Amino acid sequence: MGIKLPIYMDNHATTPVDPRVVAAMTPYFTEVFGNAASRNHAFGWSAEEGVENARAQVAQLIGATPKEIVFTSGATESDNLAIKGVAEMYREKGNHIITQVTEHKAILDTCKRLEKEGYEVTYLPVGKDGRISLDELRNAITPKTILITIMYANNEIGVIQPVAEIGKIAKEKGVFFHSDGVQAVGKVPVDVQKDGIDLLSISAHKLYGPKGVGALYVRRKNPRVQLTAIIDGGGHERGMRSGTLNVPGIVGFGKACELCRLEMEEEAKRLGALRDRLKDRIMSRLDETFINGTMEHHLPNNINISFAYVEGESLLMGINDVAVSSGSACTSATLEPSYVLKALGVGEDLAHTSIRFGLGRFNTQEEVDYVADRVVETVNRLRELSPLYEMAKEEGVDVSKMNWKTA
Ligand SMILES: *Cc1c(COP(=O)(O)O)cnc(C)c1O
Repeated sequence: MGIKLPIYMDNHATTPVDPRVVAAMTPYFTEVFGNAASRNHAFGWSAEEGVENARAQVAQLIGATPKEIVFTSGATESDNLAIKGVAEMYREKGNHIITQVTEHKAILDTCKRLEKEGYEVTYLPVGKDGRISLDELRNAITPKTILITIMYANNEIGVIQPVAEIGKIAKEKGVFFHSDGVQAVGKVPVDVQKDGIDLLSISAHKLYGPKGVGALYVRRKNPRVQLTAIIDGGGHERGMRSGTLNVPGIVGFGKACELCRLEMEEEAKRLGALRDRLKDRIMSRLDETFINGTMEHHLPNNINISFAYVEGESLLMGINDVAVSSGSACTSATLEPSYVLKALGVGEDLAHTSIRFGLGRFNTQEEVDYVADRVVETVNRLRELSPLYEMAKEEGVDVSKMNWKTA
């Protein structure tokens, strides 16, 4: 059987919508088109029923109750609502927030804005493994601390933070714990009770649901979390998020969560095996390759590898029928290496030549083998052209001291 090109292996950026999710959504565009807030006719009631069913499905996936789910436009909004909502509501209690350096921009930029408004933010460092130190977290907490926001799993390197331990510390100190759970929910078991999470951000399009819909879990007891809304209006979602609900999107989100709940265990095994196969097929055939972040606490569908002695752009160009991400975030005109890899202590050159492989539900073994072959071929070809690689191999020059980008 031939392989269909290009191959999509960038499932941390977004995932295709599962056809079963599309099927669940379809009637909600046409027959069941009502406004879920229309209380006085059947069109509204049917839409509301779809929404409430989805709310239960989302809640069940994370061990929450339906009333604790607030639907949003996606995780960027959920992250904003969690952080700004707590910051404003508990301003009297304190103005200090703790986060860490490899968070998604939705967290970091929100924290930066709050700093401008007089809040204080501690950005914990991470080790070479990509995880924070629990001692450093404990030491960072002051009587003014109102919120700890630490992601569940990282979107570039797939490293899982010690979430349950963080939850315990937060509880001990009486500080709320928010986690950006986008990459973890639906991929690994996430349970807001076991993990001691008070607020959790989720996005539908990262778990085979549609784009533009997400949720924020907001704990209702032990402790009860209150939020100041950031969008005012009709008082939807218990006043925490006004705006007419995206009914088809929410229904699809619910279905996607249900599928993850039922299939996650098997899917994680399958993708973990595929990921390991990809890793072995690349790393057993190429020397001077390095995994970024610990594999001990890791998403099953992720691996991030740096390839020494090749130029990042050329590498990506060489595998242009494979959709992956690189550590060179081409943000507008500047070609800056990933701040996540930098935070791990990865040198600039190795950060530029890193590739994030994000496997997903619809990847096959044939695709994995094809991708591995293409990567190996390309790296070998580029290294044959590299005088530095030759020098290193022949003379044992310490190339880590050299800058091969400009060579
Ligand atoms: C994708 C992503 C987001 C943003 O989610 P949207 O729903 O696209 O706004 C936030 N955090 C992490 C870790 C992500 O991977």
